Amino acid sequence: MPELKKSADVIIIGAGFAGLAAAIEAAEAGASVIVLEKMKAAGGNSVISDGCLAAPQTEAQKAAGIEDSPELMYNDMIKAGEGLNYPALVETVTEKAKEAYLWSKEYLGVKYLDRIDIFGGHSVARCHTSTSVAGLDLVKKQLKRLKDLSVPVHTGIYVKKISTDNSGRVNGVIVYEGYQYKNGTAGPEKKIQANQAVIIASGGFGSDIPFRQAQDPRLDCSILSTNKLFATAEVLKEGLAVGANPVHLSRIQLFPWASPNEKGFGAGPRFGNYVVLPHGLIVDPKTGARFVNELCNRKEMGEALMNLGHPAVGIADENGVVTAGWDISRALKKGIVKTFTSLDSLAEHFDIDIENFKKSIDRFNDMIKNGWDDDYQKPLVKEASPVITPPFYAMEMWPKVHYTMGGIQIDASARVIHRNQHPIPGLYAAGEVTGGIHGACRLGSCAITECLVMGRIAGKNAAAPGLS
Ligand SMILES: Cc1cc2nc3c(=O)[nH]c(=O)nc-3n(C[C@H](O)[C@H](O)[C@H](O)COP(=O)(O)OP(=O)(O)OC[C@H]3O[C@@H](n4cnc5c(N)ncnc54)[C@H](O)[C@@H]3O)c2cc1C
Repeated sequence: MPELKKSADVIIIGAGFAGLAAAIEAAEAGASVIVLEKMKAAGGNSVISDGCLAAPQTEAQKAAGIEDSPELMYNDMIKAGEGLNYPALVETVTEKAKEAYLWSKEYLGVKYLDRIDIFGGHSVARCHTSTSVAGLDLVKKQLKRLKDLSVPVHTGIYVKKISTDNSGRVNGVIVYEGYQYKNGTAGPEKKIQANQAVIIASGGFGSDIPFRQAQDPRLDCSILSTNKLFATAEVLKEGLAVGANPVHLSRIQLFPWASPNEKGFGAGPRFGNYVVLPHGLIVDPKTGARFVNELCNRKEMGEALMNLGHPAVGIADENGVVTAGWDISRALKKGIVKTFTSLDSLAEHFDIDIENFKKSIDRFNDMIKNGWDDDYQKPLVKEASPVITPPFYAMEMWPKVHYTMGGIQIDASARVIHRNQHPIPGLYAAGEVTGGIHGACRLGSCAITECLVMGRIAGKNAAAPGLS
């Protein structure tokens, strides 16, 4: 790794999807760029993501006969966000979503699965997943491109402060070199001068228990998180310290189809998210009854579970697992998803009243045959089939803190907006550290789209002389 320079045109804080996209565009525009990352490896939460990206009007959708448009995606995001979303930001993300998908595919070389998935809250299938089903693919391609562009990604550099000149213009950062997350130690402080701009791309704060609990007191340490442990708020707070306006900080997304029986994201969501929601049902073990539309958005599902007060049970049968076509062997091997030869043995294992449970299954199966869910208005997928074929698969489901919708206010040019509603000169932001795009609830697979769209805009604009 080359020595950390004392200055660069553009300094980027954070080496996840958003920061790396910004770095590529700023370098392509001719700026000298450095990326600062506190951990010993790049990638942040981005590397552990599932790598699903939402985009409308793609060739893959057309081939599958799916009619979609940026307007439809916009409406879905605004509906899930309960209208709290900033319209200009949602418009930018949805208008440029297809371009971001093609950029990842054609410019960076990410390969996508042939299938296209629908997640709760989307009105059509538009989620494109990389072949490895992991964000690592995209991060690796971004890092490779930065290497070709000779942009250094400095790891083990902890950004402590964003500095400004007397006029309030952001002019650099103060960092600790040699930061080691494990023991919290760091080397000397160093000032790095930004000739044009600083871009904040430091990710969300899902693992920052004091900060998130200050926003939503329910989210104490008893609620686990899918995030990496280092997803904390120190750079967000630095942004606020130089005047950035905070937006929707208490809007914290719970990931509802996680397992309480494993740490982090784990193996369970592959079954919960991709198999149970479209092809199965979720019951309250206390009543044996369904209690929610399995394809509602994450906020509705998270709240339904929190109101239940205990884990629910997600169930699918062999047909559902085969039709979904996802490999759930890791979850089976870990014992997170269990198999049962009969519904009776499943009910006994989870201590569910068998009579009520069977009534719920019968009612669910009738609804599939009738093609309409009278109870919860679940939008049935066309391949949905009754849950009757053993073996039956089931897992406990309980929410984990997953995503922070709130953050720093930006405009559609990715400029950071001051409390007084003017852009802060020399400061841009992109990715999960920003707020306003998703409002009350982010739809699954829209974060990667957002990181690429807004990261690229931030990089281009930060590099443009005179704009910063
Ligand atoms: C398990 C999981 C699965 C997901 N799957 C999907 C999915 O399939 N589709 C989708 O759209 N979204 C998904 N998401 C959400 C999405 O992955 C994230 O929102 C996105 O990756 C955030 O990218 P980012 O660049 O903003 O931040 P990150 O990728 O988190 O990167 C931020 C970087 O900033 C660094 N940093 C922070 N503070 C400092 C500091 N003081 N000094 C220096 N560096 C610092 C961090 O170490 C980190 O590396 C998932 C999230 C999780 C947790």
